[in-house]
Amino acid sequence: MLTPRRLLVTDGSPPALAALTLQERADQTILWATPALSAAQRSAIERQAAHFGVDRVVGPGLEPASDRAPASPRTIAEGRMLFDALLAAWQCRCGRIIWPCQAGHDLDRIAQVQEIVLCVGHVARLDPAWRTVGPEIRTPLLDCTDEQVADLIASGGGGMALAWWCEGQAAAPCGGCGACRRWSAVNRLAAA
Ligand SMILES: [Zn+2]
Repeated sequence: MLTPRRLLVTDGSPPALAALTLQERADQTILWATPALSAAQRSAIERQAAHFGVDRVVGPGLEPASDRAPASPRTIAEGRMLFDALLAAWQCRCGRIIWPCQAGHDLDRIAQVQEIVLCVGHVARLDPAWRTVGPEIRTPLLDCTDEQVADLIASGGGGMALAWWCEGQAAAPCGGCGACRRWSAVNRLAAA
């Protein structure tokens, strides 16, 4: 039997942290680290687990990535990741997967993500055992803006320091990559 437990897909990013602030019960939340994470992303996940008192952190991303996986189309990588998360949720008896995918006002991307979720769910439900009791996939942040994500993070009490967003591999955010510029703009707005 599945339980009210949730499997939260995380890469340590601001949207993943925002999704964690939405979970009411740390003891019912399992953090599932996505594949091929950097050391900085892994330590962001550890900081978030410690801040919110989540004691179950699992997933392929906890292992140091041996080689960078060959680039694949984003939709295939995301579908494959969701299938892995579905299996992990099934093994942990989680009734729900939280995928903190965030598309803001990008309607094409929102439609794409909804299709991926539908397709993965459809394939899973082809198995009679999953048809009625398989975990469901939710995307609570899909149409959130960066500002709304920052507000959620502020409500969690730990601030942006709990997250990691930089595309670089240094110990601290580089400040110059696209993700650094994106999230520092939100931080400036929040501080204004
Ligand atoms: Zn950066």
